[in-house]
Parts: sequence; structure tokens; C-alpha cells
Amino acid sequence: MAYEVPPLPYDYSALEPHIDEETMHLHHDKHHQAYVTNANAALEGTEWADKPVEEVLKNLGALPQDKQAAVRNNGGGHYNHSLFWEWMGPSAGGEPDGALGEAIDAAFGSFQDFQARLKDAGVKQFGSGWAWLVHDGSGLQVVSTPNQDSPISQGQTPLLGVDVWEHSYYLKYQNRRPDYIDAWWNTVNWSKVAEEFSKVG
Ligand code: MN
Repeated sequence: MAYEVPPLPYDYSALEPHIDEETMHLHHDKHHQAYVTNANAALEGTEWADKPVEEVLKNLGALPQDKQAAVRNNGGGHYNHSLFWEWMGPSAGGEPDGALGEAIDAAFGSFQDFQARLKDAGVKQFGSGWAWLVHDGSGLQVVSTPNQDSPISQGQTPLLGVDVWEHSYYLKYQNRRPDYIDAWWNTVNWSKVAEEFSKVG
């Protein structure tokens, strides 16, 4: 079945004032839709068209050569954004507790050190891309990826990611990517992150 943009799990204005309503409309309805449309077009007629996007992205090298770039970019865009909407929410933010909080402390020193690492990865990602908290099979890591490359294609499980494409922040924050990342922390839905961590941690 062709991919579809999942409905936003909260109102478009729910992340105000950190992420503005107009950005959410454009980002979800236009940008994510474009990735879905283009991923479907690239996969149409191939044996991969009916596979879950996770499986496709884990096996990019097995796709027809002339489809790989389009699927990497657009299938990645679909997968990354589907997660991104779920990692945010209204009345969110704060710090994770329980096993996830302990694992972050163990891996990075403290929650504040982790925040600094993720922000640094996002700010230093040249051009478009993402900064991530991933589980690499043995532990937690902060990584960044260009474009819509997804950690899942590198065998890592993305637990949290911040989209640092300009389309994520330019209307409200213009060129101030660091300010956008600072504000984005107030939207992080840690219960969703902890749920995924419990499956791999
Ligand atoms: Mn985006």
C-alpha cells in the first residue's frame, strides 16, 4: 500500500509558542506530503512498494540502483517526519526519568550535557539534516545526518531527532537555528522516547 502522511497527533497550534502554527501546517501538510508523494512514485512498480518504510530504509542497497537516491531522500523524509511529529507534543519538555534518564546520564554525564551535545550536533550540521539520539545496539549516541538520511539505514535505532532543515524554523526563527533548538526542547514528548528506548535499551 502506498505511504500516507499520518495525521498530526495534536493541533497545529499545540506547540506554540515554541513551534508556530504556520510552520506546522507547511511542514506537515506540504513538506511531509511531498516526501510521501515522491517516495510512492519512486517505489511504484518495484517489489518494495508494499514494504514498511523501515524495511525499505534498512535495505537501500538492495533497491534498484536508479531508485536508491530518490528512496533514500523521500522514503527517509517520510520515516523521519513520521517519528518527528510523535516526538513532540503539547505540555511536554522537561527531563526524562526512569531507565531512559539513567541511560542518558550514564552515556553523556548529565541531561544538560546530553542537551548540549544534541544542540551542538544540530547547529554544526552544515546545510540541511537532522541531529539524533540513537541506540546503536550497544548504547546511546548523539549523531547527525545530512538531508533525509535516517540512522535506521546505518543500523541505528533513532530514539529522538530534531529536524534542522530551514523549513522547520525559518518562519519564526529565521537564521537562528540555535534558538529554534533551544525552544524545541520544550516540545519533546519524553514518554514516547522512553517507550521506544524500552524496546532497545
Ligand atoms: Mn522537515
